[in-house]
Amino acid sequence: MAEDKLARIVSLCKRRGFVFGGSEIYGGLSSIWDYGPLGAKLKKRIKDIWWDTYVEKREDILGLDSSIIMHEDVFKASGHLEGFTDLLVDCPKCKKRFRIDKLEKKSENLYKCAECGTDIDTQKSKARKFNLMLKTNVSATEDEPYYGYLRPETAQGIFVNFINVLNSCHRKLPVGIAQIGKAFRNEVTTGSFIFRMKEFEQMEIEYFVKPEEADKYYKYWVNERYNFYTSRIGLRKENIRLREHTKDELAHYAKSCTDIEYNFPFGFSELEGIANRGNFDLTEHGRVSKKDLSFFDEQTKEKVVPFVIEPSAGVDRTFFAVICDAYQEEEVNGKIRVVLKLNSALAPYQAAIFPLLKNRPELIELAKKIFCDIKEKLPALYDDTGAIGKLYRRQDEIGTPLCITVDVESINDKKVTIRDRDTMKQERVTVDNVFDYIKERNKKQSTVDS
Ligand code: ATP
Repeated sequence: MAEDKLARIVSLCKRRGFVFGGSEIYGGLSSIWDYGPLGAKLKKRIKDIWWDTYVEKREDILGLDSSIIMHEDVFKASGHLEGFTDLLVDCPKCKKRFRIDKLEKKSENLYKCAECGTDIDTQKSKARKFNLMLKTNVSATEDEPYYGYLRPETAQGIFVNFINVLNSCHRKLPVGIAQIGKAFRNEVTTGSFIFRMKEFEQMEIEYFVKPEEADKYYKYWVNERYNFYTSRIGLRKENIRLREHTKDELAHYAKSCTDIEYNFPFGFSELEGIANRGNFDLTEHGRVSKKDLSFFDEQTKEKVVPFVIEPSAGVDRTFFAVICDAYQEEEVNGKIRVVLKLNSALAPYQAAIFPLLKNRPELIELAKKIFCDIKEKLPALYDDTGAIGKLYRRQDEIGTPLCITVDVESINDKKVTIRDRDTMKQERVTVDNVFDYIKERNKKQSTVDS
């Protein structure tokens, strides 16, 4: 059933232009996905809400846009070259490959295959380490290669620019640096649609604090980020939970870590990690680069290497959670209606406008006029490529909150029919009031002030 739901969501995403397989016409690439016209819009809305909440609306956080390709030494310092590996094992029976940390442990060296249930002995099946970093030649010649790496997290761009930002923007602690951007990991266990990709996007904040305040800010960020998903993105509370890492799960540098998990069709899985990373990153980059990455505290006249709290979110996983949360199947007159009940701040279009009959030029003219007026002020769509039932179904599936239909009567009474996506109720509204009506209705359901 859960797998069915996942398959139906993947199919809707493709059918309606949210997500396509990467390089699909050439057979595709595993775990590489492209966002179609509607996916690109929804993804941008998610990023805009995050950026606006943390960079535009706050004084203590500054934005950054650092490069994807980074110097090898960055990852020597961060520990990624040495330690960013997954321990993988193949099931002797079904031959599927798994990350050991994601399998159920039965006893020392013995795990249960997540696909067929067979016992996997990690010694007999020769578990192997795979480094997840993607390397690229940044030299001009092939015969004298010089390698850089595609960053596996946006965070490293923030750490290497810490002093640049501080010196150019003159801030006191606490100060955050935020960035949205692509990250790359050569993930070996794949599947699960856009949950685990080789090229994905992150929204990360490194929040630098005085060491003695780290615990306080760690708790603050866990709470703040939970509220972001439930209030700003509008995910249902019952589908979100916090999971604090046990001591033996923690990365060696992390003091504490909490995952925010979402109830995806395959169960609760990580949406975001919030970690107290201590001063590991700045200390290591200071050591390897031989630069002073400490902060001079004007009050105490002392140098301090700040601790950092890192809320690290995935754009693609948020996108996936939004679609799963909004996806509904309802029975209407004996038929299944598929509808994406997206909150109106995220919907690719706020309204769609159609003429009821496409062989009546005066209806098309009025519908196009209304569309042109509205699209100047909010995202709207004009469509006359099908019968009304088909047009409604299309808009339901892409989450458009309101459909506006111009019919023969509209020419005389200057009124149109507005249909609500969620209730399917229809109302006659005067043409001059259409914009206010859309605004009012969508404001009620929006998680973001307009
Ligand atoms: P997982 O255990 O699921 O692989 P992780 O703990 O390695 O995740 P982090 O390194 O904490 O992930 O990355 C922070 C966030 O970046 C994750 O919570 C997730 O939203 C996103 N992310 C990480 N790896 C991927 C990926 N391969 N595809 C899509 N999003 C990802």
